Amino acid sequence: MPVVSQIDIAPTISRLLDVALPRTDGQPLEELGSWSCEQVVLSIVDSLGFRLYRYLEKDLKHLPSLAAAGQVFSAVSVSSHTSPAIASILSGLLPEHHGIRDTEDARRSPIQSIPALASSAGIRTGVIMEKGGAEVYCGLVEYIGAVPRILPPAEFDRQSGRLAAEALAAHCRLVVAYFIGLDKAAHDGQDQHGFRQAAMTIDRSFGQILAAAPAKTAFLVVGDHPVHAGSLASGADPRCVALLAGCL
Ligand SMILES: [Zn+2]
Repeated sequence: MPVVSQIDIAPTISRLLDVALPRTDGQPLEELGSWSCEQVVLSIVDSLGFRLYRYLEKDLKHLPSLAAAGQVFSAVSVSSHTSPAIASILSGLLPEHHGIRDTEDARRSPIQSIPALASSAGIRTGVIMEKGGAEVYCGLVEYIGAVPRILPPAEFDRQSGRLAAEALAAHCRLVVAYFIGLDKAAHDGQDQHGFRQAAMTIDRSFGQILAAAPAKTAFLVVGDHPVHAGSLASGADPRCVALLAGCL
């Protein structure tokens, strides 16, 4: 299995949508050489470690269907914290190069991430995140989906799916959506049943996104870091997240 990293995602999107990414520590996934796509949907699933995905996939429908049509990678996770990891996913830079530790840093950072660069290049772009993260993109992209963090996690993830589908219906060609349920299950100390329920909700939301996407859409699904709390916390393989990639 090739070694891939979260920092390869922004250069991959840059290549797929033909958007210049001035500086990156990563490189495009080689496997996409044959892809020809018009849209890209990037789903960031909080705490989707590689081993956790493998554990959960038998109970899921839509994520495994993407994996079957494309590929599943074990991708190097560059940070064990959400904000720096998401900044790396969206910028293609290592945490020591983007210096973003929290949402406030992201708001002040001069570094342009792939959603802002795509929008500047004339590509309609949507960002769906928890409210604080989404507001970083106000004025930088065409469609903002701000999901209140206070929502119950399952409702948060249903709303993320609905808003991502809405962004696609509004002709966005790059959509970034964020899902929180697995991380909440970990921090709430839920058992395997709780993780499974959270994963099934995210999977249904992803199915809604698949149904809303036009033909020739590339889908990337990635974790920000492996699970770092609760009964399914990563042990021997703590630094790898799942990366699913396919063009449908
Ligand atoms: Zn996280």
